[in-house]
Amino acid sequence: METLVSSPLQMKPQATAPAVDLANDLARGRAAPRRLSILGATGSIGRSTADVIAAAPGRFAVEAVVGGRDAKALAAMARELGAACATLADPAGYAELADLLSGSGVEVAAGPQAVVEAALRPADMLVAAISGAAGVAPTHAALAAGRMIALANKECLVCAGAAFMATARRAGARLLPMDSEHNAIHQALGGADPATVEKMILTASGGPFRTWTREAIDAATPAQALAHPKWSMGPKISVDSASLMNKGLELIEAHFLFGVEAARLDVLVHPQSIVHGLVSFADGAVTAGMAHPDMKTPIAHCLGWPERIAAPVRRLDLAELGALTFERADLARFPALGLAMAALARGGGLPTILNAANEVAVAYFLEGRIGFRDIAAGVEATCEAMERAGEAREPQSVEEALAVDHIARERARGLLEARPNSGKVRV
Ligand code: NAD
Ligand code: MG
Repeated sequence: METLVSSPLQMKPQATAPAVDLANDLARGRAAPRRLSILGATGSIGRSTADVIAAAPGRFAVEAVVGGRDAKALAAMARELGAACATLADPAGYAELADLLSGSGVEVAAGPQAVVEAALRPADMLVAAISGAAGVAPTHAALAAGRMIALANKECLVCAGAAFMATARRAGARLLPMDSEHNAIHQALGGADPATVEKMILTASGGPFRTWTREAIDAATPAQALAHPKWSMGPKISVDSASLMNKGLELIEAHFLFGVEAARLDVLVHPQSIVHGLVSFADGAVTAGMAHPDMKTPIAHCLGWPERIAAPVRRLDLAELGALTFERADLARFPALGLAMAALARGGGLPTILNAANEVAVAYFLEGRIGFRDIAAGVEATCEAMERAGEAREPQSVEEALAVDHIARERARGLLEARPNSGKVRV
């Protein structure tokens, strides 16, 4: 088992680390702006990151902004943030992006290789907020180059967690958890010795189907799955939150980030989404990270780290809230969470396979090609098929993880398309 002390997250700041330079500069009253690059700048996390930057004038400068397909949104974000460079993953959008930014002085690029190059441009911190395994290659390249990463993209660690953590240690690079639960746990840990941690608990709001019957959940539509009661997020993570696969992915994320094995990780459903993560210690003490459910709080914690910066969010008034409630997760109604727990416990290539199959299934569900229950069924069938075929060995590198991811996507597509004319597919 990895230990917290050796985790890149917990390493003591080095004298040469940019974050420490910033802290020293601030103490001397001559802070240079921290230079950020943002992968996934046009998404939900990207938008909130721009809002945090705007609320801290003079504190940040933006090097690169990266988006997927939407040239208009990326051009607008590049202008808003005064970025030096704007990169679109889709090469077909290059001409439109260049046209929109002509005369602005913003450098323009497009294509998957250009995304990796954008991630490698000189910056103090990379905000990794692409959705899905598409974030693995550019985020890993920046990590290998020693860049400090504010990690929103949990799929990086689910797909290639062991390789990511090994690279972070080798490169002396720091991974700051931006996912709200992991950010809360990072804060609740307060640098504690991992031997004294009995449990790390991630909370889940329970999503839009928390009180629904199994039959009603099975028949849920994309619009119902996207209507999250507490968080406003991109479509993929919203569906994952409805199935509770998101919490399963987060358990795997926590395992790699904090070096804590499955038996010391737990999930608690907490509909108010005020307590995001808890750490339970051997002396009976429990510390918790609390905030309103607004990603600008963990984003600000990462962007300013190790300093605290002001974030444009509502302040917490517990008396106004009155009551906070907690309940156990129901694995019978939310089988995706159980599948992720099993993948974490069994290890090997299963987290990578689970993540890839889930991405394919969620995309099919959003396109109306399969039903909600088929997401978990398709993930389970893909994991079983690849285990049976001896294709679930642990990837030894990011390249191997991406190769397993590729095979798992093909298998998942094959399984989900097995009966293409039957309407809602049942695997
Ligand atoms: P989103 O769908 O709103 O945004 C995704 C971003 O990635 C967009 O900018 C999109 O253009 C870009 N993108 C998509 N495919 C790309 C590709 N192939 N190459 C380059 N860019 C590409 O998603 P989001 O809700 O902002 O989530 C982003 C990540 O953060 C996810 O991994 C999610 O799990 C994680 N996260 C999100 C939240 C949240 O509240 N939104 C909370 C915790 C963690
Ligand atoms: Mg989260």
